[in-house]
Amino acid sequence: MNATSYTTHDVAVIGAGPAGIAAATALARSLRTVVVIDAGEPRNRSAAHARNVLGSEGLSPLAINARGREDAQAYGAEFREGRVTRIERMGERFAVGVDGEPDELRVRRVILATGLVDVLPELPGLDERWGRTVLHCPYCHGYEVRGQRIAVLATGPNATHQALLFRQLSDDVTVVVQPGGEPDAESATLLAAVGVRVVDAVATAVEGGADLRLGDGSLLEADAVVVGPRFTVRGELFEQLGGSMVVHPMTGMPFIDVDPTGRTGVEGVWAAGNVRDQAGQVVASAAQGVLAGAAVNGDLVMTDARAAAGLSAA
Ligand SMILES: Cc1cc2nc3c(=O)[nH]c(=O)nc-3n(C[C@H](O)[C@H](O)[C@H](O)COP(=O)(O)OP(=O)(O)OC[C@H]3O[C@@H](n4cnc5c(N)ncnc54)[C@H](O)[C@@H]3O)c2cc1C
Repeated sequence: MNATSYTTHDVAVIGAGPAGIAAATALARSLRTVVVIDAGEPRNRSAAHARNVLGSEGLSPLAINARGREDAQAYGAEFREGRVTRIERMGERFAVGVDGEPDELRVRRVILATGLVDVLPELPGLDERWGRTVLHCPYCHGYEVRGQRIAVLATGPNATHQALLFRQLSDDVTVVVQPGGEPDAESATLLAAVGVRVVDAVATAVEGGADLRLGDGSLLEADAVVVGPRFTVRGELFEQLGGSMVVHPMTGMPFIDVDPTGRTGVEGVWAAGNVRDQAGQVVASAAQGVLAGAAVNGDLVMTDARAAAGLSAA
């Protein structure tokens, strides 16, 4: 990197969703200098309400993040808007470049909390309804559509499990089979046994609130469409640092493998939230952030104590 100037901090947290904000709070409360850089695209930003969030049930995701950010700032955490585009090790520190600006950050440790992108099946009308009437998670939105007409867009093998979970919440569930989403014999038996209908006409668009236009021209009226996104972890920075992602056995998608504290295989780098746990919801992601923040502080404490004692790094 060719920085013209740089600023030093103990830790850079990249991403200010629940994981990054919680990590920054734990670090700032340990009197660490911490800078959080955020590109402003938290995963749940299209949803009006966040559910299953202890103590903040039903608040908007953005309000929860804003409240968490205020808490972290009150302890001295610094927040910067922008996207980290470059990161590399420079001796004992990491150089972190934001938005191609010439000045950069130099930090001793890094916490990656960059989350994931939900890649939706290709179907006209899905994207603009995502998080409102197009849903994926029964724990985030299921209660709100209980008893309603739910269409599950089957694009892969997980669709049966999703349909059964939503069947717990409504007795009006229809699986619409897309190419690649045909239920196997056991799935078909399970769905039939609990009264889930299976429609073999491929959906061509979402219309109105959540109605599905089918290939034969008919309209399947529904109140919610359930989809199975591809959970695409934002792992580019980890790879820039020399890390290799691991394919998750359940989702088939790469993620950053960590120890229980969030420590990755790259020295000095931790990960928290959806980058390490694709199924983690808000509270789990925040918990992973606190763990990572505490672990990084502990690592710095030991590094400095060993240096003060004239001992080599552990
Ligand atoms: C539609 C929807 C609704 C949901 N509803 C709920 C719910 O009701 N309850 C619940 O518990 N969970 C819900 N979730 C799950 C929830 O969104 C995630 O658990 C949570 O957002 C994960 O937090 P995170 O901090 O790991 O990532 P995120 O919240 O996604 O935050 C990551 C942040 O990192 C930033 N970033 C990424 N790359 C960079 C970079 N290079 N430089 C700087 N910043 C970067 C992004 O812009 C983003 O702001 C929902 C998810 C979706 C998709």
